[in-house]
Amino acid sequence: MSEIYDLLVVGGGINGAAIARDAAGRGLKVLLCDKGDLAAATSSGSSKLIHGGLRYLEHGDFRLVRESLAEREVLLRIAPHLVRPTSFVLPQGPGSRSRWLVRAGLFLYDRLGGARSLPGARRRDLRHDMLGMPLRAPGAGFIYADCRVDDARLTIITARDAAERGARILTRTALVASQREGGLWRATLQKESSETCAIAARVLVNAAGPWVVDVLRRADLPAHKSLRLVKGSHIVVPRLYEGDHAYLLQNDDRRIVFVIPFEREFSLVGTTELPFAGDPSAAAINEEEIAYLCQAVGRWFTRPPRAEDVLWHYTGVRPLYEDRARSASAATRDYVFDLDTSGPPALSIFGGKLTTHRRLAEHALTRVGRYLPEMGAAWTAQSRLPGGEDLPPGDVAALAAELARDHPTVGATTAQRLAQSYGSEARRILRGPLGQHFGHGFYEAELRWLVEKEWAQTVEDVLWRRTKLGLVMIAAEAQQVAAFLSRIRPPGPYPEAAAGAPAGQTAYR
Ligand SMILES: Cc1cc2nc3c(=O)[nH]c(=O)nc-3n(C[C@H](O)[C@H](O)[C@H](O)COP(=O)(O)OP(=O)(O)OC[C@H]3O[C@@H](n4cnc5c(N)ncnc54)[C@H](O)[C@@H]3O)c2cc1C
Repeated sequence: MSEIYDLLVVGGGINGAAIARDAAGRGLKVLLCDKGDLAAATSSGSSKLIHGGLRYLEHGDFRLVRESLAEREVLLRIAPHLVRPTSFVLPQGPGSRSRWLVRAGLFLYDRLGGARSLPGARRRDLRHDMLGMPLRAPGAGFIYADCRVDDARLTIITARDAAERGARILTRTALVASQREGGLWRATLQKESSETCAIAARVLVNAAGPWVVDVLRRADLPAHKSLRLVKGSHIVVPRLYEGDHAYLLQNDDRRIVFVIPFEREFSLVGTTELPFAGDPSAAAINEEEIAYLCQAVGRWFTRPPRAEDVLWHYTGVRPLYEDRARSASAATRDYVFDLDTSGPPALSIFGGKLTTHRRLAEHALTRVGRYLPEMGAAWTAQSRLPGGEDLPPGDVAALAAELARDHPTVGATTAQRLAQSYGSEARRILRGPLGQHFGHGFYEAELRWLVEKEWAQTVEDVLWRRTKLGLVMIAAEAQQVAAFLSRIRPPGPYPEAAAGAPAGQTAYR
Protein backbone atom coordinates (compact mmCIF):
# COMPACT_ATOMS: atom_id res chain seq x y z
CA MET A 1 0.00 0.00 0.00
CA SER A 2 1.57 3.32 -1.06
CA GLU A 3 1.75 6.27 1.30
CA ILE A 4 -1.11 8.78 0.98
CA TYR A 5 -0.32 12.50 0.83
CA ASP A 6 -2.77 15.39 0.84
CA LEU A 7 -0.81 17.15 -1.88
CA LEU A 8 1.64 15.92 -4.48
CA VAL A 9 3.52 18.92 -5.89
CA VAL A 10 5.33 18.25 -9.17
CA GLY A 11 8.14 20.77 -9.69
CA GLY A 12 10.74 22.21 -7.33
CA GLY A 13 11.01 25.64 -8.90
CA ILE A 14 9.91 28.70 -6.95
CA ASN A 15 6.20 28.07 -7.46
CA GLY A 16 6.25 24.40 -6.42
CA ALA A 17 8.45 25.20 -3.41
CA ALA A 18 6.13 28.03 -2.34
CA ILE A 19 3.04 25.85 -2.60
CA ALA A 20 4.73 23.05 -0.64
CA ARG A 21 5.80 25.52 2.06
CA ASP A 22 2.40 27.13 2.38
CA ALA A 23 0.55 23.80 2.40
CA ALA A 24 2.89 22.18 4.95
CA GLY A 25 2.47 25.19 7.24
CA ARG A 26 -1.30 24.74 7.02
CA GLY A 27 -0.97 21.21 8.36
CA LEU A 28 -1.19 19.27 5.08
CA LYS A 29 0.88 16.21 4.32
CA VAL A 30 2.94 17.24 1.31
CA LEU A 31 5.31 15.56 -1.09
CA LEU A 32 7.26 17.66 -3.60
CA CYS A 33 9.26 15.99 -6.35
CA ASP A 34 11.55 17.48 -8.96
CA LYS A 35 13.12 15.56 -11.79
CA GLY A 36 16.36 17.50 -11.28
CA ASP A 37 17.79 19.72 -8.61
CA LEU A 38 15.65 22.37 -6.94
CA ALA A 39 15.63 25.60 -8.97
CA ALA A 40 17.60 23.96 -11.76
CA ALA A 41 15.24 25.28 -14.46
CA THR A 42 13.59 28.70 -14.84
CA SER A 43 13.96 29.57 -11.18
CA SER A 44 17.72 29.99 -11.50
CA GLY A 45 17.55 31.57 -14.96
CA SER A 46 15.77 34.82 -14.14
CA SER A 47 17.00 38.42 -14.03
CA LYS A 48 16.95 37.96 -10.24
CA LEU A 49 14.66 40.90 -9.57
CA ILE A 50 11.87 41.20 -7.07
CA HIS A 51 10.06 43.93 -8.86
CA GLY A 52 6.72 45.27 -9.92
CA GLY A 53 7.84 45.28 -13.54
CA LEU A 54 7.72 48.90 -14.62
CA ARG A 55 7.53 47.76 -18.23
CA TYR A 56 4.31 45.79 -17.72
CA LEU A 57 2.47 49.05 -17.09
CA GLU A 58 2.85 49.78 -20.81
CA HIS A 59 0.85 46.63 -21.50
CA GLY A 60 -1.85 47.52 -18.99
CA ASP A 61 -0.98 44.65 -16.62
CA PHE A 62 -2.07 46.70 -13.59
CA ARG A 63 -3.26 43.73 -11.53
CA LEU A 64 0.08 42.01 -11.90
CA VAL A 65 2.12 45.15 -11.15
CA ARG A 66 -0.01 45.93 -8.09
CA GLU A 67 0.34 42.39 -6.74
CA SER A 68 4.08 42.30 -7.51
CA LEU A 69 4.74 45.59 -5.73
CA ALA A 70 2.76 44.44 -2.70
CA GLU A 71 4.74 41.18 -2.73
CA ARG A 72 8.01 43.10 -2.94
CA GLU A 73 7.14 44.58 0.47
CA VAL A 74 6.21 41.18 1.91
CA LEU A 75 9.42 39.57 0.64
CA LEU A 76 11.54 42.40 2.02
CA ARG A 77 10.00 41.57 5.37
CA ILE A 78 10.19 37.78 5.29
CA ALA A 79 13.55 37.36 3.53
CA PRO A 80 15.52 40.47 4.53
CA HIS A 81 18.83 38.67 4.03
CA LEU A 82 18.10 37.68 0.43
CA VAL A 83 16.02 40.56 -0.94
CA ARG A 84 18.19 43.63 -1.49
CA PRO A 85 16.77 47.07 -2.24
CA THR A 86 18.58 48.55 -5.21
CA SER A 87 18.47 51.91 -6.99
CA PHE A 88 17.76 51.65 -10.70
CA VAL A 89 19.00 54.42 -12.99
CA LEU A 90 16.86 54.98 -16.06
CA PRO A 91 18.74 57.31 -18.41
CA GLN A 92 16.85 59.26 -21.05
CA GLY A 93 18.27 59.97 -24.49
CA PRO A 94 17.48 60.07 -28.19
CA GLY A 95 14.98 57.33 -29.09
CA SER A 96 13.87 56.80 -25.47
CA ARG A 97 10.24 56.77 -24.42
CA SER A 98 9.07 60.31 -23.82
CA ARG A 99 9.92 61.92 -20.51
CA TRP A 100 6.21 62.34 -19.79
CA LEU A 101 5.45 58.69 -20.40
CA VAL A 102 8.28 57.58 -18.11
CA ARG A 103 7.29 60.09 -15.47
CA ALA A 104 3.67 58.92 -15.58
CA GLY A 105 4.77 55.26 -15.39
CA LEU A 106 6.97 55.93 -12.37
CA PHE A 107 4.21 57.97 -10.71
CA LEU A 108 1.90 54.96 -11.00
CA TYR A 109 4.66 52.56 -9.96
CA ASP A 110 5.08 54.52 -6.73
CA ARG A 111 1.40 54.36 -5.96
CA LEU A 112 0.27 50.88 -6.92
CA GLY A 113 0.73 48.11 -4.37
CA GLY A 114 -0.07 50.02 -1.17
CA ALA A 115 2.37 50.86 1.61
CA ARG A 116 6.01 50.82 0.59
CA SER A 117 9.28 51.07 2.39
CA LEU A 118 11.47 51.92 -0.61
CA PRO A 119 12.11 55.51 -1.69
CA GLY A 120 9.94 56.98 -4.44
CA ALA A 121 11.13 57.67 -7.99
CA ARG A 122 12.75 60.99 -8.81
CA ARG A 123 14.16 62.84 -11.76
CA ARG A 124 17.94 63.26 -11.78
CA ASP A 125 20.37 65.23 -13.84
CA LEU A 126 23.04 62.61 -14.56
CA ARG A 127 25.52 65.06 -16.09
CA HIS A 128 27.43 65.85 -12.89
CA ASP A 129 26.57 62.72 -11.02
CA MET A 130 28.56 59.53 -10.35
CA LEU A 131 25.50 57.58 -11.51
CA GLY A 132 26.05 59.10 -14.96
CA MET A 133 29.74 58.15 -15.07
CA PRO A 134 29.49 54.96 -17.16
CA LEU A 135 27.19 56.69 -19.67
CA ARG A 136 28.25 57.96 -23.09
CA ALA A 137 26.15 61.10 -22.98
CA PRO A 138 24.77 61.55 -19.49
CA GLY A 139 21.77 63.85 -19.45
CA ALA A 140 18.42 63.70 -17.81
CA GLY A 141 17.27 60.50 -16.19
CA PHE A 142 15.22 58.98 -13.43
CA ILE A 143 16.01 56.90 -10.37
CA TYR A 144 13.62 54.45 -8.85
CA ALA A 145 13.90 51.59 -6.37
CA ASP A 146 13.32 47.86 -6.81
CA CYS A 147 14.96 44.73 -5.37
CA ARG A 148 17.44 42.04 -6.30
CA VAL A 149 17.45 38.47 -5.07
CA ASP A 150 19.35 35.24 -5.58
CA ASP A 151 16.53 33.33 -7.31
CA ALA A 152 17.96 29.84 -6.68
CA ARG A 153 18.61 30.55 -3.00
CA LEU A 154 15.13 31.96 -2.57
CA THR A 155 13.72 28.73 -4.02
CA ILE A 156 15.92 26.51 -1.91
CA ILE A 157 15.21 28.24 1.39
CA THR A 158 11.50 28.16 0.58
CA ALA A 159 11.82 24.38 0.11
CA ARG A 160 13.84 24.18 3.33
CA ASP A 161 11.06 25.88 5.22
CA ALA A 162 8.56 23.49 3.65
CA ALA A 163 10.70 20.55 4.81
CA GLU A 164 11.02 21.98 8.32
CA ARG A 165 7.25 22.15 8.45
CA GLY A 166 6.96 18.49 7.51
CA ALA A 167 6.95 18.41 3.69
CA ARG A 168 8.90 15.62 2.04
CA ILE A 169 11.18 16.95 -0.70
CA LEU A 170 12.49 14.52 -3.30
CA THR A 171 15.00 15.95 -5.75
CA ARG A 172 16.12 14.09 -8.86
CA THR A 173 12.84 12.23 -8.77
CA ALA A 174 10.49 12.61 -11.76
CA LEU A 175 6.79 12.08 -11.95
CA VAL A 176 6.56 9.59 -14.80
CA ALA A 177 2.86 8.81 -14.69
CA SER A 178 -0.19 9.46 -12.60
CA GLN A 179 -3.77 8.30 -12.78
CA ARG A 180 -6.97 8.62 -10.82
CA GLU A 181 -8.00 5.53 -8.94
CA GLY A 182 -10.28 4.99 -5.95
CA GLY A 183 -10.73 8.72 -5.31
CA LEU A 184 -6.96 9.38 -5.22
CA TRP A 185 -4.11 10.22 -7.55
CA ARG A 186 -1.81 7.20 -7.90
CA ALA A 187 1.59 8.39 -9.06
CA THR A 188 4.75 6.65 -10.18
CA LEU A 189 7.92 8.50 -9.32
CA GLN A 190 11.29 7.61 -10.77
CA LYS A 191 14.72 8.40 -9.35
CA GLU A 192 17.78 9.01 -11.49
CA SER A 193 18.84 5.44 -10.74
CA SER A 194 15.64 4.34 -12.56
CA GLU A 195 14.32 2.99 -9.26
CA THR A 196 10.60 3.73 -9.05
CA CYS A 197 8.16 4.18 -6.20
CA ALA A 198 4.39 4.54 -6.02
CA ILE A 199 2.64 7.15 -3.94
CA ALA A 200 -0.95 8.33 -3.61
CA ALA A 201 -2.29 11.86 -3.12
CA ARG A 202 -5.64 13.54 -2.71
CA VAL A 203 -4.69 16.54 -4.85
CA LEU A 204 -2.11 16.87 -7.63
CA VAL A 205 -0.38 20.22 -8.15
CA ASN A 206 1.36 20.62 -11.46
CA ALA A 207 4.02 23.31 -10.97
CA ALA A 208 6.30 22.03 -13.71
CA GLY A 209 6.96 25.46 -15.27
CA PRO A 210 7.90 24.96 -18.94
CA TRP A 211 6.92 21.28 -18.62
CA VAL A 212 3.39 21.90 -17.38
CA VAL A 213 1.82 20.44 -20.53
CA ASP A 214 4.12 17.41 -20.39
CA VAL A 215 2.98 16.72 -16.81
CA LEU A 216 -0.67 17.10 -17.88
CA ARG A 217 0.00 14.43 -20.47
CA ARG A 218 1.64 12.16 -17.91
CA ALA A 219 -1.46 12.51 -15.73
CA ASP A 220 -3.70 11.84 -18.71
CA LEU A 221 -5.34 15.25 -18.35
CA PRO A 222 -6.51 17.50 -21.19
CA ALA A 223 -4.64 20.78 -21.75
CA HIS A 224 -7.33 23.48 -21.69
CA LYS A 225 -4.72 26.23 -21.73
CA SER A 226 -1.38 26.54 -23.42
CA LEU A 227 2.03 27.98 -22.79
CA ARG A 228 4.15 30.37 -24.78
CA LEU A 229 7.78 29.43 -24.22
CA VAL A 230 10.14 32.39 -24.42
CA LYS A 231 13.88 31.99 -24.13
CA GLY A 232 15.81 34.62 -22.17
CA SER A 233 19.58 34.75 -21.79
CA HIS A 234 21.89 36.73 -19.52
CA ILE A 235 25.63 37.34 -19.65
CA VAL A 236 27.99 37.94 -16.74
CA VAL A 237 31.00 40.18 -17.38
CA PRO A 238 33.63 41.87 -15.21
CA ARG A 239 32.01 44.71 -13.34
CA LEU A 240 31.19 47.58 -15.71
CA TYR A 241 31.10 50.38 -13.13
CA GLU A 242 31.56 51.17 -9.45
CA GLY A 243 28.56 51.27 -7.15
CA ASP A 244 25.68 49.09 -6.03
CA HIS A 245 23.05 50.55 -8.35
CA ALA A 246 21.59 49.03 -11.52
CA TYR A 247 20.67 50.49 -14.93
CA LEU A 248 17.53 50.01 -16.94
CA LEU A 249 18.51 50.73 -20.55
CA GLN A 250 15.97 51.39 -23.28
CA ASN A 251 16.88 49.68 -26.53
CA ASP A 252 16.00 50.83 -30.06
CA ASP A 253 13.58 47.88 -30.47
CA ARG A 254 11.52 49.28 -27.52
CA ARG A 255 12.77 46.48 -25.29
CA ILE A 256 14.71 47.16 -22.13
CA VAL A 257 17.95 45.61 -20.91
CA PHE A 258 19.11 45.57 -17.29
CA VAL A 259 22.69 45.96 -16.08
CA ILE A 260 22.82 44.75 -12.49
CA PRO A 261 25.67 44.42 -9.97
CA PHE A 262 26.41 40.72 -9.48
CA GLU A 263 28.47 38.90 -6.85
CA ARG A 264 30.79 41.82 -5.96
CA GLU A 265 33.10 41.63 -8.98
CA PHE A 266 30.70 41.26 -11.88
CA SER A 267 27.83 42.81 -13.82
CA LEU A 268 24.81 40.86 -15.00
CA VAL A 269 23.33 41.95 -18.35
CA GLY A 270 20.00 40.72 -19.63
CA THR A 271 17.77 39.68 -21.02
CA THR A 272 16.92 38.57 -24.51
CA GLU A 273 13.42 37.35 -25.43
CA LEU A 274 13.09 34.80 -28.20
CA PRO A 275 10.28 32.39 -29.03
CA PHE A 276 11.32 28.87 -28.08
CA ALA A 277 10.23 25.39 -29.07
CA GLY A 278 11.77 22.11 -28.02
CA ASP A 279 13.20 20.73 -24.82
CA PRO A 280 13.47 23.61 -22.30
CA SER A 281 16.47 22.00 -20.62
CA ALA A 282 18.39 22.27 -23.90
CA ALA A 283 17.87 26.05 -24.29
CA ALA A 284 21.18 27.87 -24.62
CA ILE A 285 22.45 31.31 -25.54
CA ASN A 286 23.68 31.94 -29.08
CA GLU A 287 26.17 34.42 -30.51
CA GLU A 288 23.44 36.79 -31.73
CA GLU A 289 22.05 37.07 -28.22
CA ILE A 290 25.48 37.91 -26.83
CA ALA A 291 25.97 40.52 -29.56
CA TYR A 292 22.48 41.93 -28.90
CA LEU A 293 23.16 42.36 -25.18
CA CYS A 294 26.58 43.93 -25.77
CA GLN A 295 25.09 46.34 -28.33
CA ALA A 296 22.18 47.26 -26.07
CA VAL A 297 24.66 48.30 -23.39
CA GLY A 298 26.84 49.98 -26.04
CA ARG A 299 23.99 52.36 -26.94
CA TRP A 300 24.41 53.91 -23.48
CA PHE A 301 27.76 52.96 -21.92
CA THR A 302 31.15 54.36 -22.91
CA ARG A 303 32.81 51.00 -22.23
CA PRO A 304 30.30 48.30 -23.08
CA PRO A 305 31.18 44.62 -22.69
CA ARG A 306 32.50 42.66 -25.68
CA ALA A 307 31.69 39.05 -26.50
CA GLU A 308 35.14 38.01 -25.29
CA ASP A 309 34.46 39.55 -21.86
CA VAL A 310 31.64 37.11 -21.14
CA LEU A 311 32.67 34.95 -18.16
CA TRP A 312 29.42 33.11 -17.68
CA HIS A 313 25.99 33.04 -19.22
CA TYR A 314 22.75 31.33 -18.49
CA THR A 315 19.47 30.83 -20.27
CA GLY A 316 15.98 30.35 -18.90
CA VAL A 317 12.72 29.54 -20.63
CA ARG A 318 9.75 31.57 -19.46
CA PRO A 319 6.63 29.45 -19.21
CA LEU A 320 4.25 32.28 -20.12
CA TYR A 321 0.53 31.81 -20.24
CA GLU A 322 -0.46 32.02 -23.94
CA ASP A 323 -2.68 35.10 -24.15
CA ARG A 324 -2.21 35.54 -27.93
CA ALA A 325 -0.29 38.79 -27.46
CA ARG A 326 1.55 39.93 -30.54
CA SER A 327 5.08 39.75 -29.17
CA ALA A 328 6.94 37.89 -26.43
CA SER A 329 7.47 41.23 -24.64
CA ALA A 330 3.75 41.97 -24.67
CA ALA A 331 2.66 38.50 -23.45
CA THR A 332 1.37 38.64 -19.90
CA ARG A 333 3.62 37.66 -17.00
CA ASP A 334 0.56 36.99 -14.88
CA TYR A 335 -0.37 33.46 -13.82
CA VAL A 336 -3.45 31.45 -14.62
CA PHE A 337 -4.67 28.24 -12.99
CA ASP A 338 -6.32 25.29 -14.62
CA LEU A 339 -8.26 23.21 -12.09
CA ASP A 340 -9.48 19.84 -13.31
CA THR A 341 -12.13 18.35 -11.03
CA SER A 342 -13.40 15.52 -13.17
CA GLY A 343 -12.04 13.22 -10.42
CA PRO A 344 -9.57 13.92 -7.59
CA PRO A 345 -8.49 17.49 -8.32
CA ALA A 346 -5.44 18.52 -10.33
CA LEU A 347 -4.30 22.14 -10.35
CA SER A 348 -1.92 23.26 -13.09
CA ILE A 349 -0.05 26.56 -13.07
CA PHE A 350 0.53 28.53 -16.24
CA GLY A 351 2.88 31.52 -16.11
CA GLY A 352 3.91 33.57 -13.10
CA LYS A 353 6.93 35.50 -11.89
CA LEU A 354 9.50 34.88 -9.23
CA THR A 355 8.16 37.97 -7.44
CA THR A 356 4.61 36.68 -7.10
CA HIS A 357 5.38 33.09 -5.98
CA ARG A 358 4.13 33.48 -2.40
CA ARG A 359 0.82 35.02 -3.44
CA LEU A 360 0.48 32.48 -6.25
CA ALA A 361 0.82 29.73 -3.61
CA GLU A 362 -1.93 31.31 -1.49
CA HIS A 363 -4.19 31.57 -4.51
CA ALA A 364 -3.43 27.98 -5.50
CA LEU A 365 -4.37 26.67 -2.05
CA THR A 366 -7.55 28.73 -2.06
CA ARG A 367 -8.48 27.05 -5.36
CA VAL A 368 -8.08 23.55 -3.92
CA GLY A 369 -9.33 24.50 -0.42
CA ARG A 370 -12.73 22.87 -0.71
CA TYR A 371 -11.11 19.51 -1.42
CA LEU A 372 -8.89 19.82 1.68
CA PRO A 373 -11.31 21.29 4.24
CA GLU A 374 -9.06 20.58 7.24
CA MET A 375 -6.39 22.93 5.83
CA GLY A 376 -5.37 25.88 8.07
CA ALA A 377 -5.52 29.59 7.21
CA ALA A 378 -3.04 31.56 5.11
CA TRP A 379 0.10 32.36 7.12
CA THR A 380 3.11 32.97 4.86
CA ALA A 381 2.92 36.78 4.65
CA GLN A 382 3.98 37.07 8.27
CA SER A 383 6.49 34.31 8.73
CA ARG A 384 10.15 34.82 7.92
CA LEU A 385 12.05 32.36 5.77
CA PRO A 386 14.97 30.41 7.28
CA GLY A 387 17.83 32.79 8.01
CA GLY A 388 15.53 35.81 8.00
CA GLU A 389 14.85 35.63 11.73
CA ASP A 390 17.15 36.82 14.51
CA LEU A 391 18.98 39.33 12.37
CA PRO A 392 20.64 42.09 14.36
CA PRO A 393 19.35 45.65 13.85
CA GLY A 394 20.94 46.80 10.60
CA ASP A 395 20.20 43.40 9.09
CA VAL A 396 22.74 41.90 6.72
CA ALA A 397 25.52 44.47 7.13
CA ALA A 398 25.39 44.14 10.93
CA LEU A 399 25.27 40.36 10.69
CA ALA A 400 28.27 40.34 8.35
CA ALA A 401 30.21 42.52 10.80
CA GLU A 402 29.25 40.18 13.67
CA LEU A 403 30.38 37.09 11.71
CA ALA A 404 33.68 38.72 10.73
CA ARG A 405 34.29 39.67 14.35
CA ASP A 406 33.38 36.27 15.82
CA HIS A 407 35.11 34.22 13.09
CA PRO A 408 38.20 36.17 12.01
CA THR A 409 39.54 33.22 9.98
CA VAL A 410 36.81 33.58 7.36
CA GLY A 411 37.50 37.28 6.69
CA ALA A 412 35.15 40.15 5.88
CA THR A 413 34.37 39.18 2.26
CA THR A 414 33.26 35.67 3.15
CA ALA A 415 31.36 36.93 6.20
CA GLN A 416 29.45 39.24 3.87
CA ARG A 417 28.70 36.43 1.42
CA LEU A 418 27.55 34.08 4.16
CA ALA A 419 25.34 36.74 5.78
CA GLN A 420 23.70 37.48 2.45
CA SER A 421 23.27 33.84 1.44
CA TYR A 422 22.22 32.23 4.71
CA GLY A 423 21.16 35.12 6.95
CA SER A 424 21.19 34.20 10.63
CA GLU A 425 21.75 30.53 9.73
CA ALA A 426 25.34 31.51 8.85
CA ARG A 427 25.94 31.43 12.62
CA ARG A 428 25.04 27.74 12.62
CA ILE A 429 27.33 27.01 9.67
CA LEU A 430 30.26 28.65 11.42
CA ARG A 431 29.54 27.21 14.87
CA GLY A 432 31.87 24.19 14.67
CA PRO A 433 35.24 23.60 13.00
CA LEU A 434 35.50 25.07 9.50
CA GLY A 435 37.29 21.99 8.10
CA GLN A 436 38.95 21.86 4.69
CA HIS A 437 39.32 25.12 2.78
CA PHE A 438 38.54 24.86 -0.95
CA GLY A 439 39.51 28.45 -1.75
CA HIS A 440 37.71 31.81 -1.82
CA GLY A 441 36.36 31.41 1.72
CA PHE A 442 34.52 28.18 0.91
CA TYR A 443 35.01 25.70 3.75
CA GLU A 444 33.94 22.16 4.45
CA ALA A 445 31.43 23.43 7.06
CA GLU A 446 29.47 25.27 4.36
CA LEU A 447 29.73 22.39 1.91
CA ARG A 448 28.37 19.97 4.50
CA TRP A 449 25.51 22.37 5.24
CA LEU A 450 24.61 22.47 1.54
CA VAL A 451 24.58 18.69 1.33
CA GLU A 452 22.83 18.02 4.62
CA LYS A 453 20.30 20.87 4.67
CA GLU A 454 19.92 22.00 1.08
CA TRP A 455 19.84 18.78 -0.98
CA ALA A 456 23.09 19.57 -2.86
CA GLN A 457 24.60 16.55 -4.58
CA THR A 458 26.84 17.71 -7.40
CA VAL A 459 29.44 20.38 -8.02
CA GLU A 460 26.94 22.25 -10.19
CA ASP A 461 24.41 22.27 -7.31
CA VAL A 462 27.07 23.73 -5.03
CA LEU A 463 29.19 26.07 -7.14
CA TRP A 464 26.65 27.36 -9.66
CA ARG A 465 23.26 27.22 -7.94
CA ARG A 466 23.50 27.46 -4.14
CA THR A 467 26.61 29.64 -4.41
CA LYS A 468 28.11 31.33 -7.46
CA LEU A 469 31.64 30.41 -6.44
CA GLY A 470 32.09 28.74 -9.83
CA LEU A 471 32.71 32.26 -11.11
CA VAL A 472 35.84 32.73 -9.03
CA MET A 473 37.20 29.23 -8.52
CA ILE A 474 39.83 27.70 -10.71
CA ALA A 475 39.33 24.20 -12.12
CA ALA A 476 41.64 22.58 -9.54
CA GLU A 477 39.59 24.06 -6.70
CA ALA A 478 36.36 22.83 -8.23
CA GLN A 479 37.95 19.38 -8.58
CA GLN A 480 38.65 19.36 -4.86
CA VAL A 481 35.02 20.17 -4.14
CA ALA A 482 34.00 17.31 -6.45
CA ALA A 483 36.38 14.89 -4.75
CA PHE A 484 35.10 15.86 -1.32
CA LEU A 485 31.47 15.55 -2.43
CA SER A 486 32.03 12.04 -3.71
CA ARG A 487 33.53 11.14 -0.32
CA ILE A 488 30.77 12.54 1.89
CA ARG A 489 27.66 11.88 -0.16
CA PRO A 490 25.85 8.78 0.96
CA PRO A 491 26.10 6.03 -1.65
CA GLY A 492 23.05 6.55 -3.80
CA PRO A 493 21.68 6.96 -7.25
CA TYR A 494 23.56 10.15 -7.92
CA PRO A 495 25.56 10.85 -11.04
CA GLU A 496 29.27 11.16 -10.46
CA ALA A 497 30.07 14.70 -9.41
CA ALA A 498 31.57 16.32 -12.47
CA ALA A 499 33.83 19.24 -11.81
CA GLY A 500 33.11 21.04 -15.07
CA ALA A 501 30.84 24.06 -15.35
CA PRO A 502 27.30 23.19 -16.44
CA ALA A 503 26.81 22.51 -20.14
CA GLY A 504 26.76 25.67 -22.19
CA GLN A 505 28.46 27.75 -19.55
CA THR A 506 31.97 29.09 -19.53
CA ALA A 507 34.27 26.83 -17.54
CA TYR A 508 36.33 27.72 -14.51
CA ARG A 509 39.26 30.07 -14.89
C1 LIG B 1 15.06 35.18 -18.66
C2 LIG B 1 14.09 35.26 -17.54
C3 LIG B 1 14.11 36.36 -16.69
C4 LIG B 1 13.20 36.43 -15.63
N1 LIG B 1 13.31 37.46 -14.75
C5 LIG B 1 12.46 37.54 -13.71
C6 LIG B 1 12.65 38.56 -12.73
O1 LIG B 1 13.61 39.30 -12.75
N2 LIG B 1 11.74 38.64 -11.74
C7 LIG B 1 10.67 37.79 -11.66
O2 LIG B 1 9.86 37.97 -10.76
N3 LIG B 1 10.51 36.78 -12.54
C8 LIG B 1 11.39 36.62 -13.55
N4 LIG B 1 11.29 35.59 -14.44
C9 LIG B 1 10.20 34.62 -14.28
C10 LIG B 1 10.51 33.54 -13.24
O3 LIG B 1 11.85 33.16 -13.33
C11 LIG B 1 9.60 32.34 -13.47
O4 LIG B 1 8.27 32.77 -13.50
C12 LIG B 1 9.70 31.31 -12.36
O5 LIG B 1 11.05 30.98 -12.09
C13 LIG B 1 8.94 30.06 -12.76
O6 LIG B 1 9.03 29.15 -11.71
P1 LIG B 1 8.32 27.74 -11.81
O7 LIG B 1 8.44 27.13 -10.47
O8 LIG B 1 6.95 27.91 -12.34
O9 LIG B 1 9.12 26.94 -12.93
P2 LIG B 1 10.57 26.25 -12.89
O10 LIG B 1 11.54 26.99 -12.07
O11 LIG B 1 10.94 25.99 -14.30
O12 LIG B 1 10.29 24.89 -12.13
C14 LIG B 1 9.61 23.81 -12.72
C15 LIG B 1 10.26 22.54 -12.22
O13 LIG B 1 9.46 21.42 -12.60
C16 LIG B 1 10.33 20.32 -12.74
N5 LIG B 1 9.67 19.27 -13.52
C17 LIG B 1 9.27 19.31 -14.80
N6 LIG B 1 8.71 18.13 -15.17
C18 LIG B 1 8.76 17.33 -14.08
C19 LIG B 1 8.36 15.99 -13.82
N7 LIG B 1 7.79 15.21 -14.77
N8 LIG B 1 8.59 15.46 -12.59
C20 LIG B 1 9.19 16.22 -11.61
N9 LIG B 1 9.59 17.50 -11.83
C21 LIG B 1 9.37 18.04 -13.03
C22 LIG B 1 11.54 20.91 -13.45
O14 LIG B 1 12.70 20.13 -13.26
C23 LIG B 1 11.63 22.29 -12.79
O15 LIG B 1 12.62 22.34 -11.76
C24 LIG B 1 12.22 35.44 -15.47
C25 LIG B 1 12.21 34.32 -16.32
C26 LIG B 1 13.16 34.22 -17.32
C27 LIG B 1 13.20 33.01 -18.17
